[in-house]
Amino acid sequence: MSLYVYNTLSGKKELFEPLVPNSVTMYVCGPTVYNLAHIGNARPVVVFDTLFRLLQTHFDSVTYARNITDVDDKIIAAAKEGNRSIESVTDEFTAKYREDMAQLNALPPSLEPHATHNIEPMLALTQTLIEKGHAYESRGHVLFAVESMADYGKLSRRSLDDMLAGARVEVADYKRHPGDFVLWKPAAEDEPGWDSPWGRGRPGWHLECSAMIRAHLGETIDIHGGGRDLIFPHHENEIAQSRCAHGGDYVRYWMHNAFLDIDGEKMSKSLGNFRTVRDLLQHYRGEVLRFALLSAHYRSPMNFSAELLEQAETTLGSLYSTLRDVQDIELDVEIPLADEPFYQALNDDLNTPVAIAEVHALAKQLHKASAGERPVLKARILAAGNLLGILQQDPETWLQAGAGDAISADAIEALIGERQAAKLAKNYGRADEIRQELLAQGVVLEDSREGTQWRRE
Ligand code: AMP
Ligand code: ZN
Repeated sequence: MSLYVYNTLSGKKELFEPLVPNSVTMYVCGPTVYNLAHIGNARPVVVFDTLFRLLQTHFDSVTYARNITDVDDKIIAAAKEGNRSIESVTDEFTAKYREDMAQLNALPPSLEPHATHNIEPMLALTQTLIEKGHAYESRGHVLFAVESMADYGKLSRRSLDDMLAGARVEVADYKRHPGDFVLWKPAAEDEPGWDSPWGRGRPGWHLECSAMIRAHLGETIDIHGGGRDLIFPHHENEIAQSRCAHGGDYVRYWMHNAFLDIDGEKMSKSLGNFRTVRDLLQHYRGEVLRFALLSAHYRSPMNFSAELLEQAETTLGSLYSTLRDVQDIELDVEIPLADEPFYQALNDDLNTPVAIAEVHALAKQLHKASAGERPVLKARILAAGNLLGILQQDPETWLQAGAGDAISADAIEALIGERQAAKLAKNYGRADEIRQELLAQGVVLEDSREGTQWRRE
């Protein structure tokens, strides 16, 4: 089974083949650690985590790097505002980022390079660019000269004139061309800085990724990912730096996720519709957030809403309920993935909505299946879940644990005991009342010959 991915550079779906057979390198731009990740930031994490899982079914070696940007104007501003050290800000938000992403069942990346630990390769890259005539020093800054690269703008399909027309380039009098961007900039006395041939300073953001990729993954990598907003200028500038410094291909497949809006509007603090992952985790379990994020194809814009989350919660509940019906079945079946429709969907440019629909189809089959067919169906559902990063928890635990301040499992068990006693005493009125009471709190009782089971809606 072959994997196809959409390459932003060619604008086409392409057969994925790593440069080095059986060994993949992937890099995804990580967070700038000065505040909590919002649900939009979680989209690339969940999307590329799913790709990471998928790649591991094809190739023996998959090295996935996601950086930590721990030097930046916004970090300096956050430290000043909170009257604290830079390190305390970056340590706090790096730790919180890791915790939040783990809640979304995102596997830790193979490498997590920090910008501040990679200043040497950044200085070396800058030096090479100056030597090759692609960068120049100007008043303590080192700038990349966009006019020195013939095909600058290829990824975002912009000419230099288009860029000037857009307001996204900063005009400054120390630049030769307004599109020139900073590789190295001076640092004020009270700001983090490193000695360099151009004075004490710090790296520009674009330089960080190019240098860390070269240092940790090599001059040419297979996949580079991030959200669409990074195509220009960030990824365009990474290409410029890396190709001009060492020639050849920089990235073989560029992949970008579309944006997530909240209730049909762009998320922004001023609109009051800014949702951090941490905030959402107070109300929904991480797996519910992940499932909601995977319910749309990664290249489709998605609208995140309370309804979407409720629906994700209900759907996951019903899948876990299906798995609970077969929880006593021991698994000793190998699933040939290549035959699986969910696997085919994922290999078609990570089509998660189709893969999820295939999981539903399997659950439906399981409901009607004979005892002999059930183990294989269970194994197929779990194999799909494993790739999607869902359905791996104990079904009973999932169904009985809610998020937030819902009624506790102990309290539910106590009420079920009381209802059992009421039934034995033929007090059916009270038994029914307890069922209704629990229902009002989102707990559904399911009676069977074996006794009463419960799940949260
Ligand atoms: P930032 O912290 O803004 O650099 O964003 C970190 C990552 O999240 C980048 O890959 C962005 O492209 C991505 N991102 C930011 N906002 C959204 C959004 N609303 N929807 C999807 N991806 C986003
Ligand atoms: Zn980057």
